[in-house]
Amino acid sequence: MHYQIKDKKFEPFLSQAQIAEAVDRLAARINADYEGKNPLCIGVLNGSFVFVADLFRRLTGPAEVTFVKVASYEAMESKGAVEEILGLDKDLMHRHVIILEDIIDTGITITDLVKTVKEFHPASVEVAALLLKPDALKRPVNIKYVGFEIPTRFVVGYGLDYDGLGRNLPAIYQLTPSEDL
Ligand code: 5GP
Ligand code: MG
Repeated sequence: MHYQIKDKKFEPFLSQAQIAEAVDRLAARINADYEGKNPLCIGVLNGSFVFVADLFRRLTGPAEVTFVKVASYEAMESKGAVEEILGLDKDLMHRHVIILEDIIDTGITITDLVKTVKEFHPASVEVAALLLKPDALKRPVNIKYVGFEIPTRFVVGYGLDYDGLGRNLPAIYQLTPSEDL
C-alpha cells in the first residue's frame, strides 16, 4: 500500500517486525559489549527519538541517555559542514559514549559529531545507526552497530520525516523509484 505525504508517494520498505528484530539484535550486542560500563547514549534529534526510545528500553544494565541537536549550514541543501551541536552534555570524560543515529547518509553529521565528542576525552566512542546508506557516504565512517544497510533512496517513518511529516509511521517507507527527491 502506498503512503502519500504532500506531493510524494512512498512504498513499504521495512516492517515493524523487521525493525523490532534489528533493534533487538543491536541491543543484544550492546548489552554484551557494555556490561558494567554504564554507557552514555547520545541520541541525535530529531529523527532518532523513536529508535532511541526502543533501543534504550532494551538495554538491561545501568545506562544513561541524553540528546543533541545538530544544526547545519544548509538546512535544505544536502548537508554542508555541521554548524553547531546543541545540547551536548559536556561531562563525557571517562564515559563510554554510544551515539545513536536514525540514518547515516553522507556521513558528514556523524563524523563531525564523533570528532566533537572525542574532544571531551570519553573512555570510548561508538556509533549505532538503524540505517546506513553505504553508497551515499562521502567520508569514511566506522559504524560499529548497523541495523540495515539500505540503497540510496529517501526513507520516512519510525522517526524519519519528509518535510516534518511521517515521523509517526511505525514502519519505514521508501520514496517510490519514480519520485526521487
Ligand atoms: P548525513 O550527514 O549522514 O548526510 O545526514 C544524516 C542526516 O540526514 C540524518 O540524521 C537525517 O536527518 C537526514 N537524512 C539522510 N537520509 C535521509 C532519509 O532517507 N530520510 C530522512 N527522512 N532523513 C534523511
Ligand atoms: Mg538524524
